[in-house]
Amino acid sequence: MWKPIPKHPNHQADDETGQIRHVCVTHRVCAWNEVELAQHQDKNGYFSCTLGYVAALVLEAHVGPRPTRNHVAGHGPLGNGNNSVTNLQWRTRSENWWDTHDGTQPKIDRTPPPTQLTGEIPWE
Ligand SMILES: [Zn+2]
Repeated sequence: MWKPIPKHPNHQADDETGQIRHVCVTHRVCAWNEVELAQHQDKNGYFSCTLGYVAALVLEAHVGPRPTRNHVAGHGPLGNGNNSVTNLQWRTRSENWWDTHDGTQPKIDRTPPPTQLTGEIPWE
């Protein structure tokens, strides 16, 4: 479902695909209406677009604003490249996915792999 991104009134985020699109409220006729923004994946697997990190944009649109300055947009078991809202959460740098999703995820080895430490996105 597309929902507006509060900080970016001309844009919406989709909670299933993690896509960001332009939905223009500025121009009466806009050539970019409903056009999805290009996304670039960095070496750690995170996607960003011209508005910033996609994970943070999806969380802002579908969950709410970043709770505190200590919170980052974190990814869950589906990996850093998956920006479906079910794979995202605002979390503090000391938390990991399993601390806040206990019992709701498939029973797999809960020993955090070393790469889980990179599932945190610096913000600002
Ligand atoms: Zn426009």
